[in-house]
Amino acid sequence: MHCRCGRETMLAFGMCSTCYTLRRQDEENFGGLREAVLERDGYRCRVCDAPGTGKRSIIVHHRVPGRSELRLMISLCRGCHARVHRTKAVLAVMPPLLLELWREQHPEGHDQKTLDFKRTIQPAAAIPLF
Ligand SMILES: [Zn+2]
Ligand SMILES: [Zn+2]
Ligand SMILES: [Zn+2]
Repeated sequence: MHCRCGRETMLAFGMCSTCYTLRRQDEENFGGLREAVLERDGYRCRVCDAPGTGKRSIIVHHRVPGRSELRLMISLCRGCHARVHRTKAVLAVMPPLLLELWREQHPEGHDQKTLDFKRTIQPAAAIPLF
């Protein structure tokens, strides 16, 4: 007997322990809707349209922390997800959707943070290879 992922199942519900653990996490963290969100978004990042390359390469992001509702969750690639959660970001180069998601995560004075970031940004220096 094999699990969907190809491993031999050693556990109940027709799943291997890895899949079972992931399923449990999905239920705890996403109300069991993780797959539904990914399916709705076509297993692609909604910001940059990057396709998911592996089962866990696309992250389901909560637009409102702790609220596992379909309309409040969105599929993001690791890169875009990291940018949403990073407290300092270059707002000008963000796609509009990413900017919106970022503002949701950082409601407290994003303009101030932009200024802080610009003050510390350094122009890219040419680094000789040899
Ligand atoms: Zn499995
Ligand atoms: Zn992306
Ligand atoms: Zn997130």
